Amino acid sequence: MEHVEFNKDLIEFLNSSPTPWHAVSTMKSRLDAAGFEQLDERDDWSLDRNRGYYVIRNGSSIVAFRTGNKDVSTSGIRMVGAHTDSPCLKVKPNPELRRKGYFQLGVEVYGGVLLNPWFDRDLSLAGRVTLLDEAGEVQDVLVDFRKPVGFIPSLAIHLDREANNNRSINAQTDLPPVLMQVSEDDTTSFADLLSQQVAAESGIKARKVLGYELSFYEAQRAEFVGLRNEFVASARMDNLLSCYIGLQSLIHTSGDEAALLVCNDHEEVGSMSAEGAQGPFLTAVLDRWCGAGKARAIAHSMMISADNAHGVHPNYLDKHDENHGPILNQGPVIKVNHNQRYATNSRSAALYRHISDELGLPHQTFVVRSDMGCGSTIGPLTAGNLGVTTLDIGVPQFGMHSIRELIGAEDGFTLFRVLAEFMQREKVF
Ligand SMILES: [Zn+2]
Repeated sequence: MEHVEFNKDLIEFLNSSPTPWHAVSTMKSRLDAAGFEQLDERDDWSLDRNRGYYVIRNGSSIVAFRTGNKDVSTSGIRMVGAHTDSPCLKVKPNPELRRKGYFQLGVEVYGGVLLNPWFDRDLSLAGRVTLLDEAGEVQDVLVDFRKPVGFIPSLAIHLDREANNNRSINAQTDLPPVLMQVSEDDTTSFADLLSQQVAAESGIKARKVLGYELSFYEAQRAEFVGLRNEFVASARMDNLLSCYIGLQSLIHTSGDEAALLVCNDHEEVGSMSAEGAQGPFLTAVLDRWCGAGKARAIAHSMMISADNAHGVHPNYLDKHDENHGPILNQGPVIKVNHNQRYATNSRSAALYRHISDELGLPHQTFVVRSDMGCGSTIGPLTAGNLGVTTLDIGVPQFGMHSIRELIGAEDGFTLFRVLAEFMQREKVF
C-alpha cells in the first residue's frame, strides 16, 4: 500500500499550504532539502549540467527544473504544469464592518467559488503581509492563523422557510465572516490584528502594515475518508494535488534527462498576470536556460498539464457523457476537448497511455457532454505560448471549487508514477 505513505505526505503538504504563497514556500523547503538551488531573476545565471534549480516569482509561482546532462536543444525537456491557487474568499483592503457589536470582515470572491459550502465552517485566515518593520525596511511576511478565527453563519431555516427550495447567495451581503465581538467604542483595525499575529508568529514587530493579500480557508485538516479509507478529503485539492504530484515526480527522479515543473498562480481567474500561465514567467526561464537552442528544445519537449477532473457523481449521473464518466480510484483522466479548451491531442494522449500501459496502471478519458460547456486550465495557454505539444490530465474528484473536495486515494499515486517515468524518459518526441 505505497499510496498510503504517499497520501500521508500529501496531507501534510496540503495542511501546510493554505494559500499560493504558503504552497510555494512548502515546495521551496522540499526543493532545498533535495539539493535544488534557488535562482533570482535579478541576477546573472550560469547553469551547470546535472543540477537542480528553481525560480520563484511574486512568492506565489515557481519554476523548478533539472538540467540533465545532455544538450536540451536535441534532447528536449519533460515538463509538468499545475496551478497554486484555489477559489476562496479574500479580505478586502478596508475590511472592517461593525454591526451590533460583531466585528466582521468584508470579502471579495476569488475565482469560481462554490459558495454554499462556506457557511457554518470553521474558517482560518492566511496569506502574505507587506509591512514596514522597526528598522524601517519594507518586507513580506507570510501569516497563517492556523486555528479557526472566522465563521459565516447560515440564516436559520425558521427565519427563511424557503431556504431549501430557493436560497441564493448575495456575495456582497451574505458572506462577511464574523471574527469577534467588540464594544461600542472599539476602534481595533484589521491592520492591528495582523500586526499582533505577525509578531506572535514570526517575532517581527511591524511599525505599519502597508498591504496584504489574505484569504479565508477551511480550518479542518485534510483527512482520509471512507470505510476503507478509499478517499482523501481536503480544501484546495484543485490544484495543490497536482503541484504535489509534479514536485514529487521531479524530486524523486534523477538521471540524464532535463525535466521541469511549473506551478502558476492565478489560474482560477484566467491566468493573465506577471506570474500566471498567460504571462511570460515560464518563457523567461526557458529563454535563459536554453538560449538560442530554445526553439529546437521545445520541438523535442512535451508538457503535461495536470489539473483535477470531474468524477461522475453517483447522484447526478446525467451530467457526464455516458462513455466518459471518470470513476474515483480508476486512474488519472486524460482530458480531451477538440475545441481546445484542453490542449490534449492524440499524440500526447497516446504517449501517456503508452507509458501508463507499460507500468500496468489504469487511465480514463474525459470529454464533456456535447450539450454542455467545457472548463479549461493552463494547458492550452502554455501550449499556445510556447508551442509545445501538451497533454491535459488530472485526478478525478468530487466537489470541484467547494471548500472541501474529495479524491480517490489511489489516483494521485498512479499519476505520480507515470509522471516520474515521463520525467526520466530518454525520448519524448
Ligand atoms: Zn484547477
